[in-house]
Amino acid sequence: MAASAQPLAALAVKGSAESFAVRRIYCVGRNYADHVREMGGDPSREAPFFFAKPADALVPNGGDVPYPPRTSNLHHEVELVVAIGEGGSAIPTTSALTHVAGYAVGNDLTRRDLQSQQREKGLPWEISKGFDHSAPMTALHPVALVGHPDRARIWLDVNGTLRQDATLDQMVWSVPEIIAELSTFFRLERGDLIFTGTPAGIGALVPGDAVRAGIQGFDELHHRIVAAR
Ligand code: MN
Repeated sequence: MAASAQPLAALAVKGSAESFAVRRIYCVGRNYADHVREMGGDPSREAPFFFAKPADALVPNGGDVPYPPRTSNLHHEVELVVAIGEGGSAIPTTSALTHVAGYAVGNDLTRRDLQSQQREKGLPWEISKGFDHSAPMTALHPVALVGHPDRARIWLDVNGTLRQDATLDQMVWSVPEIIAELSTFFRLERGDLIFTGTPAGIGALVPGDAVRAGIQGFDELHHRIVAAR
């Protein structure tokens, strides 16, 4: 059988009938000082660190997220997501934004109980971060529509109660700095997405919860947590 040309995952593109084929999903850890503190860390400016999710963990905006197995502490993390439009390696900070096709609002869903155990033991994070349905996301908002947001409000509410509320200028590492650093480890290609870290206010989700999240100027992300399948 011939290999399929279909990508594993794609994002809708706001204002367009086209879709954006997704290649890889990278994530930055601990990138807002108040969130570093709530995780018991030291918010000094250490180099950013990275982990990843599989591309097919994407959940299109409005889709249901089944409560994942093997956890009793599923957490939300609202984040600005960067979509790479033009590839490169060892990209300089000064030209990093020219590699960006657009942005989205994403929820870096996390099995917090497993992540805490893995951090203590120095184990990798795939099972706490890269599980099925772990990346609900809005459509891609092209740079032509939203520019390069760097101080907009970012927020998340659960069942109408505000849980996370911050601004993008509270990020420890900026989008250009993240692209520059990540591209020294991996050649970035069109279709790569980068979750840029979450502000304080992370918390648990349970089946039945309705999650809404946003960044000023973007479509709202919304999804439900439904019973395990
Ligand atoms: Mn995160």
